[in-house]
Amino acid sequence: MSDLTGVFERIDGYREEIVRLQRDLTARVALGPDNGGTGEHEKTEYIKDLLNTLNPDILREIRAPDERAQGGYRPNLIGRWEGMEKGATVWVLSHSDIVPPGDLSLWNTDPYQVTVDGDRVVGRGVEDNQHGFLSSYLALKAILDSGLTLRRPVGLVIVADEETGSDYGLSYLLKDQEGCFSPEDLIIVPDAGNEDGTMIEVAEKSMLWLKFTVTGLQCHASTPQKGKNSLRGAAEMILALGALDERFHFSDPLFRPPVSTFAPTRSEENVPNVNTIPGKNIFYLDCRILPRYSVDEVISASEEMAASVSEKTGLKIRVEAVHRQEAAAPTPPHAPVVKALADAIKRVTGKQARPMGIGGGTVAAFFRRAGLPAAVWSTCPDSAHQPNEYCPIPNIITDAKIFASVYQWQE
Ligand SMILES: [Zn+2]
Repeated sequence: MSDLTGVFERIDGYREEIVRLQRDLTARVALGPDNGGTGEHEKTEYIKDLLNTLNPDILREIRAPDERAQGGYRPNLIGRWEGMEKGATVWVLSHSDIVPPGDLSLWNTDPYQVTVDGDRVVGRGVEDNQHGFLSSYLALKAILDSGLTLRRPVGLVIVADEETGSDYGLSYLLKDQEGCFSPEDLIIVPDAGNEDGTMIEVAEKSMLWLKFTVTGLQCHASTPQKGKNSLRGAAEMILALGALDERFHFSDPLFRPPVSTFAPTRSEENVPNVNTIPGKNIFYLDCRILPRYSVDEVISASEEMAASVSEKTGLKIRVEAVHRQEAAAPTPPHAPVVKALADAIKRVTGKQARPMGIGGGTVAAFFRRAGLPAAVWSTCPDSAHQPNEYCPIPNIITDAKIFASVYQWQE
């Protein structure tokens, strides 16, 4: 195992640097057009300058055409540093874009001006995803500034548009830069994790959002017999859908939670007043389905249940899939990227990390669909997308040491 004592000491000294970088990155507001912004240009330019100071062998800016954005494009970066050994590259992918701050009255400070509260920095983007970028970048900087040679090639990828679908980010890169990534590479996406950094996410459930439209007959509430109450029908339908749990009961311990989940969520407004029997009710079901079941099976089962409730109540019930995302094939739990991360985590924190599956929705799915085994990992609190988003500075320091260990990892 290579000696990283000097590298770790260097990383321990980065506290002030982390605060400064977080401040500069947060001030460069990177909102995509779907979130009311003009793109990630200013922040990406700043990151490009940072990467340039580390003398990359390759530094490419890839512009995904988007006429709604500043200059008509969305900026993505690929930086690459060669190592002593050829072969498998360690890639770390982070994203430059952020989500809007939301209700400003819920923030204690200006979301775009970083404040320091003890060990925490607070501001929009400090955790999601500046934490991921900073820990991977500082790990590389510490190794190179120590005068060490990288064992293996290292690549840092900074993408746009992660928060609004990735059409102008990773999805575009995988088409435009075909052959850049290889199935032997170790691909890490530090964009989700748990608080002690022991969750290495390798699998996701399929995602399905179902919309149920229950149609009856509106009438005055004092003469309910003249109408057909769609709210009562929606209630019966929601209860009937409880049977999905039994129908799709298989449990897989790789996942948290281990079972498929079917949660009624949004309910659209029906009538604005109390004294009318509602003629139409619309509600939604969020389904997270274990990869062993197909999304279509769940849709058919829901349609059968709707038909039987419809027969019983005399109401019309329409079922529509408004969003579906089939789970990508999981990254094998014994893939080298999982082993490298688990070894590095053990070395730095002494903790035993484990491969796990989650409910879905990370950008790693794009890699997996392209046949590239990616792992999602970071040490993080659950503060992403929240008001007063924060990132503990010690987490960045720990994760930077873990990345440094992965960059220098020996099988
Ligand atoms: Zn993110």
